[in-house]
Amino acid sequence: MLDCAIIGGGPAGLTAGLYATRGGLKSVTLFEMGMPGGQITQSSEIENYPGFFEHDKTGMDFMNTWQEQCFHFGLKHEMKKVERVAKTGEHFTITLESGETVEAKTAIVCTGSTPKRAGFKGEDEFFGRGVSTCATCDGFFYKNKPVTVLGGGDTALEEAYYLSNIASDVYIVHRRDTFRAAPSTVDRVMRKENIHLVLDSVVDEVLGDAMGVTSVRVKNVKSGEMQILETPGLFVFVGHNVNNSVLKDENGEFICKMNEWGQVIVDLSMRTSVEGLYAAGDMRIEAPKQVVCAAGDGATAALQVISYIQEQA
Ligand code: FAD
Ligand code: NAP
Repeated sequence: MLDCAIIGGGPAGLTAGLYATRGGLKSVTLFEMGMPGGQITQSSEIENYPGFFEHDKTGMDFMNTWQEQCFHFGLKHEMKKVERVAKTGEHFTITLESGETVEAKTAIVCTGSTPKRAGFKGEDEFFGRGVSTCATCDGFFYKNKPVTVLGGGDTALEEAYYLSNIASDVYIVHRRDTFRAAPSTVDRVMRKENIHLVLDSVVDEVLGDAMGVTSVRVKNVKSGEMQILETPGLFVFVGHNVNNSVLKDENGEFICKMNEWGQVIVDLSMRTSVEGLYAAGDMRIEAPKQVVCAAGDGATAALQVISYIQEQA
């Protein structure tokens, strides 16, 4: 029986592992379907993690030392995909993709979320080289330069507003002429002088060269007319998939309380509605979707697990 099963090896899961093992728990296993590191390993750089200021290091370089540190303190890693987490009596049963099961006293689920792709030409080719899904991460690279934002939901409009305080101009490309975002957010965006709306339009193709994106070709879906936006940055905010499937039972019902967008409802201690089950990082409600925040969540959850196990003993 494990003291704690951690599902997902991004910043939240690794930090949970570090705090749980260093805090004295003897048997803690991190289940991660690939190599630990999480989404940030896709990034060519990270410059907003306090204390880490090395421009020539990639997200992968940045996360490598996290694993070493965790393994040093006794965290075990199983490179296995988890199918399901279930509460069976007082304990948890972790079912792996292979069908094998593992018992644990507690579980911390940190499986993250995945930004959706819009599907235009060049999106994958230029991802990380001008195409981004994170304004907080990459907005600064476009200081006083124009950028394009794709999407018409709350995220797109809120991030467009954030970017308008950094970039010279922000072009919001949206496929309809009305927004899904809250009216108050739409009003705020409309009042900002350097935000320009390109409505009834989609991104047809992102164009660039070896250095990255140079411009964005946009198509008006009503007239078929094309226009080129000369922006070196394109931010895509067309929704997120929360990686929450491990929290569904065999009937497809969630085992703990979720909000309407499929994010796990937790309290400030990362406790879910199920005793002994914690969720941390990008998959929880109100997640700022930043490495530093996910790491903080992981530490909080692990400290709670240690107290919970002591109380149960
Ligand atoms: P994740 O990092 O998503 O990790 C979840 C892990 O769970 C993954 O490794 C996944 O393989 C694993 N997993 C999922 N399902 C299962 C399963 N069923 N079984 C086993 N394992 C599973 N943030 C910043 O602070 N600064 C930046 O500059 C920055 N840049 C970014 C650039 C890019 C391109 C991207 C995509 C994100 C960036 N972010 C940045 C955001 C940051 O990466 C995330 O906020 C952070 O990684 C979230 O951590 P997490 O641990 O919650 O989840
Ligand atoms: P969302 O509400 O699903 O909006 C996605 C947007 O992208 C929509 O405008 C959609 O257009 C557009 N879109 C989707 N696929 C596209 C494609 N392939 N090409 C071009 N455009 C595409 O996603 P979100 O903005 O990330 O928000 C997710 C949920 O979180 C929402 O319920 C939102 O209200 C909530 N949220 C709330 C807040 C807040 O309350 N402050 C902040 C952020 C998010 P259509 O409109 O035409 O479908």
